[in-house]
Amino acid sequence: MNLAKPELLKHTGELLLGVIGDPIAHSKSPVMHKAALAALGIPGAYVPMRVSREQVGTALEGIKALGFRGINVTIPHKLEVIPFLNELDETALKIGAVNTIVNDGGYLTGYNTDGIGYVRSLKEEAIAELKGKSILVLGAGGAARGIVYALTLEHPDRIYVANRTADKAEALAAEWKALADIRGMAMDDIPAILGGVDVIINTTSVGMHPHTDGTPLDSERIPPGIVVSDLIYNPLKTLLLADSEKKGCVIHGGLGMFVNQGAFALEYWTGLPAPVEAMRSAVLASMKES
Ligand code: NAP
Repeated sequence: MNLAKPELLKHTGELLLGVIGDPIAHSKSPVMHKAALAALGIPGAYVPMRVSREQVGTALEGIKALGFRGINVTIPHKLEVIPFLNELDETALKIGAVNTIVNDGGYLTGYNTDGIGYVRSLKEEAIAELKGKSILVLGAGGAARGIVYALTLEHPDRIYVANRTADKAEALAAEWKALADIRGMAMDDIPAILGGVDVIINTTSVGMHPHTDGTPLDSERIPPGIVVSDLIYNPLKTLLLADSEKKGCVIHGGLGMFVNQGAFALEYWTGLPAPVEAMRSAVLASMKES
């Protein structure tokens, strides 16, 4: 996809973009994508749209009728949108969830940029090469699915998935056992494998605002000097990351994932390289205001 601007702007002279979810008022996507459009010099709008579960299909018809070029999809509609799409790209199909939709003249294609956005950020900001590494993923929810799938494409030596509900971690490992050496386990099993781990990634919501005194891994368990990453970006430095920093670890927060999932989405909509730094600055400025 490499669309010239006139093609993109044919409906209204402006590039119409947005995000659907429920709730949606606190989404940082509008501020980030408006900054991106401004930096690219593309006239357009990115609007937050609160859509109830029952209205997802109608909302997507509206996206077509109104000539939106694309939308993001956030909680709780990442699965609900799928029956209303014409096509899923391979990543969205494997993950079973969609966070980005591209509208090609009424033909809707679903993508999932969460996992690839995360891995791009991890490699740029914390560890350039994941091949041959041993990675521990904490959590087995929606975000973990995208991340574990994207990690398998990097050819790590092994991925451990530990979850409070161990069955979910084991099911995830079984589903993708052909893609990589993935082992599901309970949180209680973590101490036995920590010695050989190079990277720990928190995908649970433990430590997220307003419960910032929570951590998914006690400080004394964190191996010194490894890479520790947290998907949470509010706060920017979770207790897990602060503890890990004290242990001499390379730390990596969730802001880069948020920016990069948006960057990939923008690239799908426009065919242009996303202005990542303008996007990051806009989100940071908005977080300082709120
Ligand atoms: P989710 O599907 O609801 O999954 C939540 C996960 O957290 C599950 O594994 C759950 O375990 C675990 N968990 C929740 N409370 C826990 C507790 N008290 N103790 C231990 N484990 C607990 O949510 P999600 O969509 O995957 O999102 C997870 C986190 O990722 C959130 O903090 C979200 O903000 C963050 N995230 C960040 C970005 C970004 O762009 N940076 C994008 C997506 C998500 P059980 O299975 O046992 O319930």
